[in-house]
Amino acid sequence: MRVKMVRQRVVAATAACVMTGAGISAGSSVPAAAVGRVAPAKPTPAPRKTAPAPRKPAPVPRKPTPAPRKPAPRKPAPVPSIALAVTATPSNIIIPLARTALVTGVVKGTRAARPVQLQLSYGRQWLTRQWLTARGASSDRKGGYKLTIPSGKRGTFTYRVYAPAVGKVAQTASMPFSVSVGEGNPRSYELFAPAGRWNPCQVIGYRVNTQGAPAGALNDAKIAIANVARTTGLRYAYRGTTSVIPGAGDTFLSPYPKDTQLVIAWVKPGTSKHLTKGSDYVGYGGWLSLGEPTRFGSKSYYPITQGFVVVDRTRKMRSGFGLGDPKGLSGTWGQLVMHELGHTVGLTHVMDKQQLMYPFLQYRAAAWGLGDLGGLYNLGARLGCFPASALPKIGLPSQYAGMLPPLVPQLANLATMTTHIQREIIKTPQQVWAGDH
Ligand SMILES: [Zn+2]
Repeated sequence: MRVKMVRQRVVAATAACVMTGAGISAGSSVPAAAVGRVAPAKPTPAPRKTAPAPRKPAPVPRKPTPAPRKPAPRKPAPVPSIALAVTATPSNIIIPLARTALVTGVVKGTRAARPVQLQLSYGRQWLTRQWLTARGASSDRKGGYKLTIPSGKRGTFTYRVYAPAVGKVAQTASMPFSVSVGEGNPRSYELFAPAGRWNPCQVIGYRVNTQGAPAGALNDAKIAIANVARTTGLRYAYRGTTSVIPGAGDTFLSPYPKDTQLVIAWVKPGTSKHLTKGSDYVGYGGWLSLGEPTRFGSKSYYPITQGFVVVDRTRKMRSGFGLGDPKGLSGTWGQLVMHELGHTVGLTHVMDKQQLMYPFLQYRAAAWGLGDLGGLYNLGARLGCFPASALPKIGLPSQYAGMLPPLVPQLANLATMTTHIQREIIKTPQQVWAGDH
């Protein structure tokens, strides 16, 4: 990099909050009905669950015998070898709710028609992935098949096409593929300006600050991350818990551990400058960049250096991703964290209630809308990696915490603004801040 670190241009597209709605200023452009606190007159009756409740895998036969003193090198669990001799091409990977979509392909191995099944993945680990048959059909004699992809539930689902063994012909399957089902306008998404995206060639290490957090917080964070990863194609790795509070100090970047680029923290308002005491906001999420903007397609993006989510741990909300408490805050912790994570990958608010990037908690199960899905997909791995020249050479921010440029003074003012501002961009010679409330 040509310039010294401290002179480096710093970009922040931060922010964004979900408001509780209590005390929205009179100037707010948001209709009262949008406010989370208001008990919704007619909750969306639709899907009760984000993802199909997978049957639990059969219980493990018995606990392994106590480990011998010198543990033998652990062998990976045997994976049934299945030839990947089925091609599978979904007609669309982002599907409007209840709209027909197909997966077509060819299964090799026989000269006769052969049964094929669309199987849904559940289970967390690749090697222990379990499959549930969702649809069945038969191929034609040349192996060609056509299967319908279910689109009755919102969410992102991973499938494969499986052909069971026939006589002496072995079982075979396709590579897994993911499709997302959502509601609303597929164009309903908005990027921060300036825009930022993660470098998909990097694994994003994340930690969760669960100090004082409600029960289930860690699990909610992990599931929300998985929901972002599946749609963006970005790779995340859980690095453990942390006591770091993003925005606690007065440096631009927060001193994260070396292996960490994203922190999700349940905090007490006032301990982070992103979440002030007595504010209406329940959460705040965003990103910061020390890199150089790079063109991908028709747009330039800053490579994201740090992402952060802070949520107000003193709020009373249900955990999980289902319906919230209609008498209290109508949303859930899961819905809130998904929304804030949307900011950490570059999405800002849209005034469309069918999207999770709508800036208010809502009384409905948490699932990305069609616009959210399109935005996540377009910001994700699809666009390719940043060139090394665009990435900061300083290595990891924590090593340089003391040298990091201080926050621009305007930033503090922004955080305390109570009016609803869609977007605010402030430029100083060295820093750019873009965010919204
Ligand atoms: Zn927001």
